[in-house]
Amino acid sequence: MALTKKQSAELARQEFEYAPAPESIDHVKIQPRYGLFIGGRMVEPHSKKRFPTINPANEKKLAEVAEADEVDVDRAVKAAGKAFDSWARLAPSRRARYIFRISRLIQERSRELAVVETMDGGKPIKESRDVDIPLSAAHFFYYAGWADKLEWAFPNRKPRPLGVAGQVIPWNFPLLMLAWKIAPALAAGNAVVLKPAETTPLSAMLFAEICMQAELPPGVVNIVTGAGKTGSLVVTHPDVKKVAFTGSTEVGKLIQRAIAGTGKKLTLELGGKAANIVFEDAPLDQAVEGIVNGIYFNQGHVCCAGSRLLVQESIAEPLLDKLKRRLSTLRLGDPLDKNTDIGAINSKAQLEKIQGLVESGIEEGAELYQPECVLPERGFWFPPTLFTNVSQSYRIAREEIFGPVLSVLTFRTPNEAVEKANNTPYGLSAGVWTDKGSRILWMAERMRAGVVWANTFNRFDPTSPFGGYKESGYGREGGVHGLLPYVELT
Ligand code: NDP
Repeated sequence: MALTKKQSAELARQEFEYAPAPESIDHVKIQPRYGLFIGGRMVEPHSKKRFPTINPANEKKLAEVAEADEVDVDRAVKAAGKAFDSWARLAPSRRARYIFRISRLIQERSRELAVVETMDGGKPIKESRDVDIPLSAAHFFYYAGWADKLEWAFPNRKPRPLGVAGQVIPWNFPLLMLAWKIAPALAAGNAVVLKPAETTPLSAMLFAEICMQAELPPGVVNIVTGAGKTGSLVVTHPDVKKVAFTGSTEVGKLIQRAIAGTGKKLTLELGGKAANIVFEDAPLDQAVEGIVNGIYFNQGHVCCAGSRLLVQESIAEPLLDKLKRRLSTLRLGDPLDKNTDIGAINSKAQLEKIQGLVESGIEEGAELYQPECVLPERGFWFPPTLFTNVSQSYRIAREEIFGPVLSVLTFRTPNEAVEKANNTPYGLSAGVWTDKGSRILWMAERMRAGVVWANTFNRFDPTSPFGGYKESGYGREGGVHGLLPYVELT
């Protein structure tokens, strides 16, 4: 029997009553103004310009950060170039020691980092505390282990570092993306200039403090804050030998065009429109948890989010019933509350993008479902959303929404599932839910996606490579594969 919206909300209320459980912010000191991290210390920006970073859950200003201009970026790249010579020559086991130290400091300061990540970006504290920060530390820990074993990573070859890496990261996993970029670069002996996203610069500023605490040689890591213009100055600087970018496909293409013919190495980790495919023999309750984790984790601000649910027609009705009931138990609200499942949307611009795409879904004829849900008055919020009656041609089935919005499509045969799953310009990830191991392998062989999860979703591990096909970019991050873009092999 299908539940109405009201019935499922009532059920949720009966089952769970939670008192507020906010994480304390007393131990966190956010400075009112930040400079740029260049040559091992915080310096005033040449531009003399700053911009505010706000808490998207209440729109309150948290701090002012510097906007690096051409002179600032040049200073950062020069500092990195100067540091590179001695860093690359340092005994690899000593390089490893610095990277281990960074990992330990991230662990020591994990509560503070989790709170800052949540305040600056809007994600639930339980996610920053249990996923972002531990995984960031794990990345440094893992790559520290490789620093003195590069010749085992590339047998019979001689790996050499490239020089200065210019790295630009997005706002969905600020510290984790920083770790994905900086850890392999340093392990391989490169120096870096990193630009965090405009809306989430604060955990990178804390990371600058961690570099100083770890007594990392000055200039090995430089962090320049700013908007897209600053990012473009970093990637096009003539002394930058390697560019690593995570963000939208649109900006990825711009960067590719801007540096074509310069000889710079490039890795791009771009958008996605992943299919999460549920077969009729799948354990449905487990699959529902995987679907929820796949699209509502981090408000759907996840490049590998399972934003298209492909469900076998024979089980569509019971699965959707269970899913709707589960949606009504998700708690949306204060990201600092330990019970919160859905936090704030990262920015006003992102909220408007989500709203626009959801409107297009309604206009094109899809059926919208949202559980009853009270949105806070201030800040940027969007309820967990599910669309049924979706055709493959609709924008909500084709474009990356990057929000808590799931499009449900159905299929009858495995071949149809493969065809629909691959019918996208992207190819970052996919999920398969079935009881049969043979079907998992059959599907995994046919998915044009960098990662295929089986009976789970959104699992990350520093030892495992991650990256895409087609418009999701190229190159791999994580694992031994993640070292390759940072070395030249002779
Ligand atoms: P962008 O691709 O614009 O941002 C990613 C990073 O690139 C940010 O640090 C940004 O700076 C920087 N940047 C912007 N323009 C340039 C440029 N010309 N040269 C170099 N760096 C640049 O993503 P948005 O924040 O605009 O998000 C738009 C959409 O992109 C989202 O709705 C989502 O669909 C997708 N996206 C995908 C991500 C992924 O992981 N695959 C991550 C983020 C977004 P600044 O922050 O200052 O703009």
